[in-house]
Amino acid sequence: MRFYETCLYCKKELKGRTDKKFCDPQCKSAYQYQQAKDKPERFYNIVDNQLKLNRKILKEYNKGGKVIVRSSMLTQEGFDPNFFHTLLEKYKR
Ligand SMILES: [Zn+2]
Repeated sequence: MRFYETCLYCKKELKGRTDKKFCDPQCKSAYQYQQAKDKPERFYNIVDNQLKLNRKILKEYNKGGKVIVRSSMLTQEGFDPNFFHTLLEKYKR
């Protein structure tokens, strides 16, 4: 018997393991992001932590200046492209 018949995020029918809640890591990530957004005090910490992790990972890979890296390598390390600082302010001038 299944714990969940459909993906908690996109509501598509689940296949595979019976304890699955999501169809893929993207749905899981999107769901957690949505959940966190509904709890503002925790949301700040989650975003802040992810931004710090993203920055750390990019810093590690980009020691040479302008480096090209496969996105799969970054996501394996925990990089989440949904979280980023914008440099927009810099280009406004
Ligand atoms: Zn899904």
